[in-house]
Amino acid sequence: MALINCPSCSERISSKATVCGHCQCVLAEMSAEQRLSMQKVSKIEQSQKLMNQSMIAMLLFCGGFGFMFWGEPEPTSWQNSIATGAAVLGFSWYILNRARIIWLKRK
Ligand SMILES: [Zn+2]
Repeated sequence: MALINCPSCSERISSKATVCGHCQCVLAEMSAEQRLSMQKVSKIEQSQKLMNQSMIAMLLFCGGFGFMFWGEPEPTSWQNSIATGAAVLGFSWYILNRARIIWLKRK
């Protein structure tokens, strides 16, 4: 029994499985060609999702940073804490997404 990647959700499943246990995708009636094209589509979808997420992360970062810059909140106020939090979160999320996109492309 070998392990393969599910063409739909990319989880590791048995090559003899007829249905993916993760996404319920039916594999039995699929030809090798169909699996390959499905794998490609899901890869594109995944990277698109990650791109969208990094866009949101970027907006979060810009929003937080912009508010700190132009809103000039009091350094001890809760607005400042939220703006800093949003900027830090957005930045780390963005970096994480970029790393995941690179990793996805390497696979
Ligand atoms: Zn699956």
